[in-house]
Amino acid sequence: MDEGVRIFVGTAYSTAQRPLVSAVWTTTTGCFRGPRNSGEIVTVNKTTTIGIVGGGIGGLAAALAFQRAGFRVAVYEQAPELAEVGAGLSLSPTAAHALNHLGLHETLEHKAYHPEDQCVRHWADARPLTWINRGRKLLEQYGERYYLIHRADLHDALAAAVRTNDADAIRLNKICVSLTQDAAGVDLQFADGTAARCEAIIGADGSRSVIRQKIFGLLPVEYTGYIAWRGLVPMERIPPEILEPPSGVFIGPGHLVNRYPVRGGKLLNFVAFAERKAWTEEGWSIRSTVDELLQEFQGWTPMVRRIMELVPEDQLFKWGLFDREPLTQWTSGRVTLLGDAAHPILPFLGHGAVLAIEDAVVLARAFEAAGSVEEAYSRYEAARRERASFVVLASRKAGKMFHDVDTDSYNERTGGKAADEGIGLFSYNPVLQAV
Ligand SMILES: Cc1cc2nc3c(=O)[nH]c(=O)nc-3n(C[C@H](O)[C@H](O)[C@H](O)COP(=O)(O)OP(=O)(O)OC[C@H]3O[C@@H](n4cnc5c(N)ncnc54)[C@H](O)[C@@H]3O)c2cc1C
Repeated sequence: MDEGVRIFVGTAYSTAQRPLVSAVWTTTTGCFRGPRNSGEIVTVNKTTTIGIVGGGIGGLAAALAFQRAGFRVAVYEQAPELAEVGAGLSLSPTAAHALNHLGLHETLEHKAYHPEDQCVRHWADARPLTWINRGRKLLEQYGERYYLIHRADLHDALAAAVRTNDADAIRLNKICVSLTQDAAGVDLQFADGTAARCEAIIGADGSRSVIRQKIFGLLPVEYTGYIAWRGLVPMERIPPEILEPPSGVFIGPGHLVNRYPVRGGKLLNFVAFAERKAWTEEGWSIRSTVDELLQEFQGWTPMVRRIMELVPEDQLFKWGLFDREPLTQWTSGRVTLLGDAAHPILPFLGHGAVLAIEDAVVLARAFEAAGSVEEAYSRYEAARRERASFVVLASRKAGKMFHDVDTDSYNERTGGKAADEGIGLFSYNPVLQAV
């Protein structure tokens, strides 16, 4: 890369490895000075033009990570306005490290729910099968805890931070329809007839990525046999005795329900999974009815059914889960992929957004470390692909494990360990991972 601008990136960290200083965009250099995890001086090339297609959680996290590394980015988002679907998101300690690095610890602190103990319960009588600590123990072991957050709260915070750094960074109404590349750059074409040329393009356009299709062709997609419902229930409607503890998982043959508070405890988010032979439509927002949901969960404990009865029908959606094989490469020339575009994933370990946020931080760090776009992509893939593929495959297995016909043997099958932490998923730090 060309000779760039030298910026100091010192950080003060608290004992829980949280940044104590806030971030500053320095108008004199056009670079970002913010909390980081080291005091080294780095050289960055702020002139490399970087385009990100997709302004979801992965795309915006990447935009912020690049800005904080001193790069100017443009995010091309197809929607006319930035908005996230009404649903919850679990964030592991690894994602928390990444978000702290991006200066978003306040969002985790004030917008997210902080579960201490989660309980996995039996579908019929709600007896506890396992208790899992998501707070103190994780803080001690990994320097961060587990958080549960409304998607829009995280998405809004990312967008606000990106726009504070650069008011023009996010370009809306930009449906990317095509791309072509040569040795020096990539040309994007949009549905409105406009175009953009960048030296590097990141496809962060989700599981049905157009960018992926343009560089690798259409991936075979398979319906998994799983369907899911998501709902948000006003907390004041819910009897407190069925929320013990508020963050809980219920497992039964062929079924799974996960529920937890979001929006500062004002709403209870739930996701309910079942199995169906056939499904055609891919997408998140097909309406359902409370009757249909209750029909599927007949005989289940009132700790689940009561919540389902209370969900407003305008807050109840269903969808079918589709799966794709992990890619063996994410990059072609000056184009790479990130988040669901790179590694579409089933939601059974709650790790899709986690991986996208990790990707974002590692990719920007790879650009800081590299001498060219190609080298940055190669460092990024080397630091990310194995982990992402492992989590994608582990998520498939977790679906089967939760849905097993023999609910009673759950503890024996898992050794009493959390499905995610128990297989080592929290032993990764995107801020410290070698790139
Ligand atoms: C039921 C369910 C529960 C989940 N729970 C969790 C959880 O608890 N924890 C977790 O970590 N993950 C969870 N996930 C996964 C997580 O939601 C996704 O992995 C994550 O949103 C991926 O982010 P992304 O930015 O890569 O893609 P997306 O969020 O899909 O964003 C893609 C963006 O690109 C835009 N776009 C698409 N095409 C174009 C185009 N052609 N031109 C321009 N823009 C375009 C879209 O409008 C969108 O804004 C869950 C998923 C499901 C289905």
